Order: sequence, then C-alpha cells, then structure tokens
Amino acid sequence: MEQAQIAQSGFSNSRFTGRNFNGRRGGRGGCFGCGGASHHLTHDASNLITANDYTGPDQLFIANGSAHYTCLVGAMARAGHLEQAERVALTMPYKPDAAVWRALLSACAFHGEADKAWSMARRVLELEPLDDSAYVIVANVLSAAGRWDDVAELRKMLRDRRVKKQGGRSWIEVQGKVHVFAAGDWKHERSAEIYRKLEEIMGEIEKLGYVPIWDELLHNVEEEKRKEALWHHSEKLAVAFGMLCGSAPPGKPLRIVKNLRICKDCHEAKYMTRILEREIIVRDVNRYHRFVDGNCTCRDIW
Ligand SMILES: [Zn+2]
Ligand SMILES: [Zn+2]
Repeated sequence: MEQAQIAQSGFSNSRFTGRNFNGRRGGRGGCFGCGGASHHLTHDASNLITANDYTGPDQLFIANGSAHYTCLVGAMARAGHLEQAERVALTMPYKPDAAVWRALLSACAFHGEADKAWSMARRVLELEPLDDSAYVIVANVLSAAGRWDDVAELRKMLRDRRVKKQGGRSWIEVQGKVHVFAAGDWKHERSAEIYRKLEEIMGEIEKLGYVPIWDELLHNVEEEKRKEALWHHSEKLAVAFGMLCGSAPPGKPLRIVKNLRICKDCHEAKYMTRILEREIIVRDVNRYHRFVDGNCTCRDIW
C-alpha cells in the first residue's frame, strides 16, 4: 500500500511504522508474522486497534481485500481478543470465508477455548465440509478438555461425511531440481539414507526435549504404528534429504513447501534447527513458518 493510500486508510498516524511484530520490514519472501506477502500493514493494524479501541468496520478500511482481514482477525485472536476478532469477522465488508474462521479456530484452540473452537469449526465446516484440519484441531482441543463425548461425535461426523485425511506432500529444491516427498514414501532413490538421517535427527531432538504430539482424532483411525507414522511425515523427510545432500550451504535456511497445514508434531520438531544449526522455512498452505534456534516465528499459533 502506498503512503497516500495509507493516509486515506487511517493508518497514517505516528504509530505506523511499516514494520511487523518482529520489527522486521515485510518484503520479498513474505511476512513471517502471517505468511502474507505484503501483510505487514495489517499486523500494525492489530497493534493499533486494541480490544477496547475497536468500534466497528468503519474504523478499518483495508484496501487490499479480505486476505488482510484474515490476518487482522488472526492477529487479534492470537493476542487473546477472541470476541473482538469474531466481531471484525462478522462486520467486515467481505463475506467471511473459511480462512477467516480457520484463523479464529486456531486461536481459540491455542487459548483452550473449547466451546468457541467448536463453534468456529462448525463455521469452517459449513463452508468446507471436507476440511480435515478443522476436525483435527477441534478434536485436539476437546480432548484436552476431557470432552470425550464431543470427540466421539466428531469422529462420527468424520465417518459419515467420509472425510479422508488428505495426503501430505512436501517439496524441496536441490540444485535446480525439485524433490517431492509423501508421508512414509520410499520412492526416492536415496530413501534408505534419508530414513537413516531422519532417525538420527529425531533421536537427537528427543534429547533436547521434543515429545511426539499425537493427533487425537486420527490416532485410532490410522493403522500405522503411531510413532513411525508421525516421524515419517513428508516435511520431516524433506528436511532429512535437504541435510543429506547439503541443499543449502551452512548458515543458509532449508526451504520446504507443504501442500497442507503443517501438523503439530512436525511443528514441534522445531528443535531440529538447534541440531542442524540452521533455519528451516516451511511454507504451508496457510503461511510461512520460520524455525530458528528451536522456535518458530508463528509463536506456535497457526
Ligand atoms: Zn507432520
Ligand atoms: Zn510456526
């Protein structure tokens, strides 16, 4: 957004800095606060508009469209202003799409608000009934709250609607060639080495405190051995391969693209960045995750 537009949009006051939460300028490669390519302004918007400030949609004129609203809603919700974020979603000048409700769902789950998470999941599922990630997120928060009857209801919905967990795929580029991995995949010519390397990395991060995070909804459904099923996810295979073939010189990040939302366990494997002593950047279907020194810039809410 140009300065002139910023002035018109009401963001021209002295608190606008053009920087995101991390004090980093948004720019090429995307904003790590949200994954949007040019959404840093919106992050500032959420700083400017606090829970008590927000008076209604007229206060916000975000010229760049509904994606910015998704960012704003997500940022407010992550900061714990769940009701205000929902109000923005309901009053913004765009019809809220599944991405907006998904952002709210993730934040409600992070804050352990099981009822709210349930109602956000229903909204996501009204628009996208086959969104397996919405079922998984809400099932995890419900089971953490000990609400097993609701988890059983969700499982039934999943069966009745014949929702299949989509196959995850991850891509990594090495010397101009793109390599693709699927979970538990042995198609790559260096698979034996890749699995050995992965085993080694996972063993090391367990020593650093990594504990596997099971998928509460699907662990009864999937038949593979649980730990193996988690450890052989596509993004972990891509990281192991990237390290094996030195896809990036020391000090440079490993870059991975994933077709779905990164799962909780692969996110928890963030400790890898300590072992490997390099950043890992994962572009998943929703946003960028930039893992640095055992942490992610999404602050574990995504
Ligand atoms: Zn995973
Ligand atoms: Zn992250």
